[in-house]
Amino acid sequence: MSAPKSTPDPLDVPPMESLRERIGAIDEHTVDLLYGLEPVFEPDSGDAALGAYVEYQCPYCCEIIGTSVDLTDGSRSYIEDCQVCCQPIALSLQVDARGDLQGLEAERAD
Ligand SMILES: [Zn+2]
Repeated sequence: MSAPKSTPDPLDVPPMESLRERIGAIDEHTVDLLYGLEPVFEPDSGDAALGAYVEYQCPYCCEIIGTSVDLTDGSRSYIEDCQVCCQPIALSLQVDARGDLQGLEAERAD
């Protein structure tokens, strides 16, 4: 077994030439890839103690409604108007002892 001769010798490429190629390859898109990695929105960034974003189906118009709920008060029920059809929806929030959302029920309140 002899070493393959097709492997290019790294010393064949002048350092400056290789550097210029790399600089030339960095366009706006590449910069975005390099520096645009920070997520704008973090759904699970420790917000469990304050509230949560939930989605439920409106019992009147069957639209999926997204809303923020306050989990600091524990389990409770309250009325929220549908953002689409403005009908009153009775929301039942189930929160466990750790303040984590266990469930959400949406029923007609009329
Ligand atoms: Zn509705």
